[in-house]
Amino acid sequence: MNDLKKEFEKHMLGVFSAPDIWLERGSGVNVYDIDGKEYLDFLAGIAVCATGHCHPKVVSAISGQASKLMHCTNLYGIPGEVELARELCIMTGLGKAFFSNSGAEANEAAIKMARKYAHSKDPDKSNIVTANNSFHGRTLLTVTATGQEKYQKGYHPLPPGFTYTPYNDVEALKGNVGKDTAAVMMEPIQGEGGIIPAKQEYMKAARDLCDDNGALLIMDEVQTGVGRTGMFLASENYGVKADIVSLAKALGSGFPIGATLCTDECASVMGPGDHGSTFGGNPLACSAALATLKVVMEEDLMMNAAKMGTYLKLTLKDLDGRLIKDVRGMGLLIGIELNEPKAVDMKNWCAENGLLVGSIKDTIIRLAPPLIIGKADADKALGIMGKYMDAP
Ligand SMILES: *Cc1c(COP(=O)(O)O)cnc(C)c1O
Repeated sequence: MNDLKKEFEKHMLGVFSAPDIWLERGSGVNVYDIDGKEYLDFLAGIAVCATGHCHPKVVSAISGQASKLMHCTNLYGIPGEVELARELCIMTGLGKAFFSNSGAEANEAAIKMARKYAHSKDPDKSNIVTANNSFHGRTLLTVTATGQEKYQKGYHPLPPGFTYTPYNDVEALKGNVGKDTAAVMMEPIQGEGGIIPAKQEYMKAARDLCDDNGALLIMDEVQTGVGRTGMFLASENYGVKADIVSLAKALGSGFPIGATLCTDECASVMGPGDHGSTFGGNPLACSAALATLKVVMEEDLMMNAAKMGTYLKLTLKDLDGRLIKDVRGMGLLIGIELNEPKAVDMKNWCAENGLLVGSIKDTIIRLAPPLIIGKADADKALGIMGKYMDAP
């Protein structure tokens, strides 16, 4: 393993530090490292492996497709892409879909669409309002949308036309949205920002302010979408419908795919040649996503996410008053805020003891397990986390 770390450091761009855990395979809620050690995976590739690792139906969809057709340019069609678009429109209540390969690309398309739509009304209407502490991706445009300087440092000049507003502050939002606003872009729960759910009144204010100012509401559901919060979209929990929704992480159960959904009205400004992607709508990605949606529905995973999420949250709140400051989130996207800067220590300790969780900053533990977990899995994870908290 030390050799692997050395090789990693020698050959890999240093944007990630060399990992201590090297995985070989996964099955359901578990992953196994190259020495055969088993881990209960409560991070699921950061909210990606919603159907668990290597769900047989997803595996068979991908491998079946792989032996038939692995790529199709957008000059030709494949039925699976249209089927996926139809399914996603039904699930989100939106009108049209565009496919790409990642969350950043899905957001990039969302911002481009919103700009084009706004410009069709007024050439000076171009501003995108995003929240402080948000995360929207790593391309230059989406890192600009991301309201955190640490992701932008060193990459200036950034594309202009973005305004940042404090998350969950309705008065500030009112001051930042106006006639020059093309779109308000937000996460229903700030994921990378520390699992911070939007307040109901903030969501509603964002919708109302967009309507009053002829702006579009873009909901970045890259981390929250595809059932993780108990609804297909987290914004459904608020009864708020966005004009544009971006999806990615969980959509392909681990196979890379991004999707940007929008209303027919918004889609009307996008014509042939206005946007594109060589790999977008790839046959393997579409088959993985169709299989994922099928599993989510057939196995009632949204209901399970809501149920298991509530169970985890309530039990965590009872665990230990000393170390835990706050437990928050929705469904199976849960943040545990600690009283002390021990998140990394706790994450490493849990991994040594067979449980994978995430850490955000120094004080927040992120749980984003597969949506297939049962009570026994939750109890096992709670047991390991509880043991850490009991330690002096
Ligand atoms: C992960 C994430 C992204 C970026 O997705 P990539 O696939 O890494 O480009 C964008 N927005 C949110 C809310 C995310 O959690």
